[in-house]
Amino acid sequence: TYVIAEPCVDVMDRSCIEECPVDCIYEGARMLYIHPDECVDCGACEPVCPVEAIYYEDNLPEQWSAYTKINTEFFDSH
Ligand code: SF4
Repeated sequence: TYVIAEPCVDVMDRSCIEECPVDCIYEGARMLYIHPDECVDCGACEPVCPVEAIYYEDNLPEQWSAYTKINTEFFDSH
């Protein structure tokens, strides 16, 4: 799955939402989240993010490794 990390916080550009073919990017209060079970790994969202907040989970920079769990947990509570 792809994961949205810290650069999205308080930015929420939403360009990714328009690109996602399966509409699996959802809005939270301060950032967007990718549903890990709905994402089909197409990669379309990654290049359109103006703040480079989106990464394939295995390529997530070390300092943002917690965001895989943060994206998953958003859907446990919504
Ligand atoms: Fe949507 Fe594709 Fe991005 Fe997954 S990788 S969130 S399916 S645009």
